[in-house]
Amino acid sequence: MSDTNSDSPRGDLVKLPRTRGNPRVGLVNLGNTCYMNCALHALSMTPDFSRQLLLLDSPSKMIVQMQRLIALLHFSKYSKIMPTSVLFATNRAMFTSGLQQDCSEYLGHLLNLLHEHEKVMGWLWPSNATGSSINWVESLDLLLPYSNKMSIADRSFSGQLSNIYKCLTCSYESSNPNSFRELQLAFPEGKINQKSRKPNFTVQGLLDLYCTPEILDGDNKYACPQCAKHCKGERQIKITEAPLNIIITIKRFNYNRETQLRTKLLHKIIHDDMITLDLYDSQTLEQTYTMHYRLYAAIIHVGYTLDSGHYYIMARDQQDNWFKFNDSKVAHVKPTEVRNLRSPNSAHVLMYHLTGKSDPNTEAAEPVVIPIPPVAPLKLNELPTRLHDFVKRNIGK
Ligand SMILES: [Zn+2]
Repeated sequence: MSDTNSDSPRGDLVKLPRTRGNPRVGLVNLGNTCYMNCALHALSMTPDFSRQLLLLDSPSKMIVQMQRLIALLHFSKYSKIMPTSVLFATNRAMFTSGLQQDCSEYLGHLLNLLHEHEKVMGWLWPSNATGSSINWVESLDLLLPYSNKMSIADRSFSGQLSNIYKCLTCSYESSNPNSFRELQLAFPEGKINQKSRKPNFTVQGLLDLYCTPEILDGDNKYACPQCAKHCKGERQIKITEAPLNIIITIKRFNYNRETQLRTKLLHKIIHDDMITLDLYDSQTLEQTYTMHYRLYAAIIHVGYTLDSGHYYIMARDQQDNWFKFNDSKVAHVKPTEVRNLRSPNSAHVLMYHLTGKSDPNTEAAEPVVIPIPPVAPLKLNELPTRLHDFVKRNIGK
């Protein structure tokens, strides 16, 4: 934790000459590191996450490296930067340079690491949380239980769910609460027409399926404590605390024993711009609100197996401009490009931001949506002094 004042010794975050055409800062691929670049671009395009991270005054070297990189992605005048320092600060044996990795696993690993580094340092609120950010937190607290979440990763991405088990013999019910930072959505079992030209699924459909009661039968019966035996049962997931941003991973990979490769399900999906999530009271498990979310990022996998191929990301800024970040190349794209992906391009991770909530029990024909206040874009002069000085030295011309 000693060299947070100096620039990194590896000569990382090396600024590369500006090339024409990049509307935002790209990240150099350091040898099959597109999975990492996508995760970093995804986090930098999450407004509340990057705002909180950049305002945090932490002595953790790993957090400092992340802050420097995210700050340069926001403020650098260079067209691309090298993420070497973050690769070394966040790497572990399984994310070996040169090997293709699962982007959603890396994103989860990165959020865990940030959470753990914040925990070691004691929980800190962003240093200058006065002004626009504190107003935002206060107004958000009226809508969400926000400030009881201690780490930035949890405040931005975590939610709570209840796994409810019911015995279909005696109606005994039990529930296990769990927190989550990602929802993994699977396709329904059964035969699916892969050649169909029309998409078979929507994100909303897969999300609804995830929350639909599942029958536990056969080898999978429920061990009912009241009947004291395995009975036919039902399992249902209910979301009891809504995340500010939902990370949805589409479970597209099946392990094939013969080829020893994880083969990919190429089912077409409509990437809904808006989705809704039913929210339940954690005690009564009755529905309280409908939460409304809007798509802001999609991490796309190109290829036929997870062990090969390439990732890139399309993401929207707060002014509704969409960009395609393909490592060091960045381009403007139309929102329709996110919706019209062609095989073998398919969304592996979709990220939705909470836009509002409504009362599902209303008598009104159209539910009134109470909007969630947007986060103010962070300005360079709001950064803590050390980070501000680093960015000023490395911003480029
Ligand atoms: Zn029972």
